[in-house]
Amino acid sequence: MNRTLFDNALAAAAKIAAATPNQRSFVPWPEAMPFTARSPVAIPAIGEMQRHSGLANALTQPLQSALLALAPFVEWRQTYSEAEVGRDFLNRFGWFELAGPRDGYFQTDITRMTVGFWGPNLHYPWHSHEPEELYFVVSGTGIFEVAGQEPRTLQAGDTIFHAANQPHALTTDASGILTFVLWRGDGLADPPKMAG
Ligand code: ZN
Repeated sequence: MNRTLFDNALAAAAKIAAATPNQRSFVPWPEAMPFTARSPVAIPAIGEMQRHSGLANALTQPLQSALLALAPFVEWRQTYSEAEVGRDFLNRFGWFELAGPRDGYFQTDITRMTVGFWGPNLHYPWHSHEPEELYFVVSGTGIFEVAGQEPRTLQAGDTIFHAANQPHALTTDASGILTFVLWRGDGLADPPKMAG
């Protein structure tokens, strides 16, 4: 457990939020957040993330570096079963909660901050959740689909908003994607649900 690595990642994320109007208006950056140590959980995707997190930009590169340094020390989660998403997906996907009301490293009741990684050529099927969501691309690219909208290809620095219970999906191509995700609203501690 290296507390400094967590502080570095949070500080890098805070700098981006301060410079990104869509994030600033989505949720105010929480004031002092108490830290709780959590036991690391390793997943196969850590190696994939080191190799295929994709291109960052000048704004996002410090957070990409901080997250790659932090990755071996994190309590990774996968949420979905092999029956839902397949073995290849589980080998190359993972997320963790940096901050949130219950299961994060930093405690806050106003938002949930998660980091998600998907390797190249993966499809994250349609799913939804009650909280509103703002994705921010740290590095790499992905095609984001939202029910009722044209698909959008996003890269480092881009954001996309998902309304409460609005189904969405994500597909990567030759590059993986590393994302920083904010939630707000009711059901903050609940997991997403797959469509159907
Ligand atoms: Zn979502």
